[in-house]
Amino acid sequence: MDKSISNKMNNAAAWTSNTHLEGILIALEKRGPDSLPPHEIAKLISFIKNAVIENGRENGTLIIKGNYIVGLPANGYQREITAIKILAQRLEFSDKFHEWMNDRLRALAYRMAREHPVEQMEKIWRTMDENGRLSYIRAVHQIQTNLFSDDKVDFIPAQVTPKKMEANTLGTFEFDGNPLYDSSRLKIAINPSELMKSTAENATGAVIHEGIHSILRQLARMTNRNLIAPSHPLHKDAKMMHDFVKYDSYCSSMFREAYYADPEERIAHKHEDFARIYKEQSALRRHQVERFKARPE
Ligand SMILES: [Zn+2]
Repeated sequence: MDKSISNKMNNAAAWTSNTHLEGILIALEKRGPDSLPPHEIAKLISFIKNAVIENGRENGTLIIKGNYIVGLPANGYQREITAIKILAQRLEFSDKFHEWMNDRLRALAYRMAREHPVEQMEKIWRTMDENGRLSYIRAVHQIQTNLFSDDKVDFIPAQVTPKKMEANTLGTFEFDGNPLYDSSRLKIAINPSELMKSTAENATGAVIHEGIHSILRQLARMTNRNLIAPSHPLHKDAKMMHDFVKYDSYCSSMFREAYYADPEERIAHKHEDFARIYKEQSALRRHQVERFKARPE
């Protein structure tokens, strides 16, 4: 285990006073997570996360807005968060999975640049009202879902609906039931006031980010129904997502740096690579157009 992380963990007192948790933290600090299989790591993340929330509820230190817990006390639970971060970093998708994800996002960026180079899209975007913008991001989500699907894994688009949320949140991905069951629907909620403040680039990035969550969660769901054959190149990664969802190991941004270590979030943040390729492709396309125009009749 990284020495500085282990020192940090030793120096901070655990905020929770749960002897089982204390045992886990000490074991992690001593031995690190290296020998643990993915499903054990997923279980441990979930256990620590729930212990933190339970403890925060008991002592009333959670930051709550409306009906939702949105934060932990500043600097609180640092030892627990560091432990979750170390565990989450160990949940790695395979190189094959990364290649597949990068390849599909590249295909999406090429397609979008071909239809509307980014500057042209920004101009159109500025003339669009809320409904126009929602229709546009629904179309982006549909294209993304189609491009990720093939004859072996068939993804369905999430319902993209407007929903009032706290400021600075543009979009979220959610379910209206057990995420592993087909009876629960996939939903991407978009905050209308943030949508109207946003550029086309930001809104597109947000819906692609949520779209990646949708794809990852559907891989977990397909695994739950044994729809991904062991011979499928993504079988192992889908199985890891299944463990991750089954044990509810996802860490939202309230877990501070553990959010950026979260395996699902690390993949969803590939929307930033998409944005870069979309810009590059748009620039190439602009040069092509310019060259074409410069040719004599
Ligand atoms: Zn996310």
